[in-house]
Amino acid sequence: MIETLRAHRNISKQEARLIAIDRLNEVRIPSAEKRLDSYPHELSGGMRQRVVIAIALLTQPSLIIADEPTTALDVTIQAEIMSLMLDLCKMHNVGMILITHDLAVVSQVTQKTIVMYAGRVAEQGPTSEVIQNPRHPYTKGLMAALPQQNQAGKRLYQIPGSMPTLDAMPQGCPFNPRCEFVGERCLQDVPDLEDMGGHLVRCFKAHELQESGSLS
Ligand code: SF4
Repeated sequence: MIETLRAHRNISKQEARLIAIDRLNEVRIPSAEKRLDSYPHELSGGMRQRVVIAIALLTQPSLIIADEPTTALDVTIQAEIMSLMLDLCKMHNVGMILITHDLAVVSQVTQKTIVMYAGRVAEQGPTSEVIQNPRHPYTKGLMAALPQQNQAGKRLYQIPGSMPTLDAMPQGCPFNPRCEFVGERCLQDVPDLEDMGGHLVRCFKAHELQESGSLS
């Protein structure tokens, strides 16, 4: 933390140490002054994640890109870390791009969602709209794969096949080998991102599927 501060600002080691302790207090690390001298292996996973958040805020960024910030944490700690990040972003007036596979976290903490597939935007829009009214077959598959409370004992839905590697992309729509709605055109051409009233979708059949209610 001290090295990061001194690489960006012309301050003494002692000044940097005081700022680092302040940030550790802000992310609610107990005994921050003592912890600053700890090795990472002496901290729990949740505490290490708090330290990473403190480091991210050290240089007063206007944007934080948080890539899977809650992966490998248990559910209770996940909730604490997300709530802490949101509080700190508000307090410091920082924006956040959250990269995650966890749609529950997405629905709870984000305003806008972009669903990516094979390196391209598949669907983009206000989070409530994307989650409640998915318009791309891939998003629909992701939603269908979420565990439901009333499905105890049943197999979870799984999107068939797997993600193509970027050096072996299928011709046409990259999702076509896995899509239950695939048509002739999907095998030839790559769809553009189309604006459906502020909700962007990359699928030739988006209108047809919307009208038929096939994605509900
Ligand atoms: S363009 Fe075709 S293959 Fe691609 S997601 Fe839409 S329906 Fe499926």
